[in-house]
Amino acid sequence: MTPVVGRFAPSPSGDLHFGSLVSAVGSYLEAKTAGGSWLIRIEDIDPPREVSGSARRIIADLETLGMKADGPILYQSTRLAAYQRALDMLLGKGLAYSCACTRKDLPASGIYPGTCRNGIEKGKQARSVRFLAADLPETFTDRLKGVVKGEVDDFIIRRADGLFAYQLAVVVDDHLQGITQVVRGGDILDSTVRQIALQKALEFTTPQYMHLPVVLGADGKKLSKRDSAHPVMGQDPAHAVSHALRFLGQNPPDNLALDMLWAWAIKHWNPELIPR
Ligand code: GLU
Repeated sequence: MTPVVGRFAPSPSGDLHFGSLVSAVGSYLEAKTAGGSWLIRIEDIDPPREVSGSARRIIADLETLGMKADGPILYQSTRLAAYQRALDMLLGKGLAYSCACTRKDLPASGIYPGTCRNGIEKGKQARSVRFLAADLPETFTDRLKGVVKGEVDDFIIRRADGLFAYQLAVVVDDHLQGITQVVRGGDILDSTVRQIALQKALEFTTPQYMHLPVVLGADGKKLSKRDSAHPVMGQDPAHAVSHALRFLGQNPPDNLALDMLWAWAIKHWNPELIPR
């Protein structure tokens, strides 16, 4: 049997907030209770959105909270050559193409209608690179949500600003790191069919997926990294972890010290209890 490898893959666009703590705790416990290892990957491929110092603070906060990676931390900013190779391979196989469309050219649905599939209109300039999707829905079985079916359009894999898109980088690195299970926030659920389509095109194995319930703020909207209303640090680490466990439906005893809390969590972790 392949050993289980899980990961937590924060973007350094702000400090650790409660929503990312929930993903960290869920991915950590799923990996540890399967006797596997847990890795951290810093998804720093979008410099305009990066908040200086946040990668360092996220890693330090995770350690203070009792979660330490079982291997070196991978920084996506060091992986550009690998993303380029994957892009070249897709272009070479005819599974990607240049696109001249701007945001204005897209329909309101945001679904790309395939305008540049057969070449760029004369006089227009190539801007981004898109994946050539099979016109078939993609399906996978999520560990919590069951069968998920979604349409895959020709999504962007290299942006008009020259940066590699999250979808491409995440697939290349989940493969490189030998990730067997992806546990992350349900806000990314819609991306998963795209990632699976890319894995197939690149001949990578598809990991197991588990999408956790999304943490909402008081306004009912998803918490964002920039949401300073819910910082994780600045409260007692055991309290923060215990709060995340409760959000995930677990029932830790009150007032355990951090190491006792983790021992309890590893012994009693039950994904069946996660609210669906
Ligand atoms: N970097 C993404 C984020 O922080 C998560 C990516 C993933 O888990 O696949 O939202």
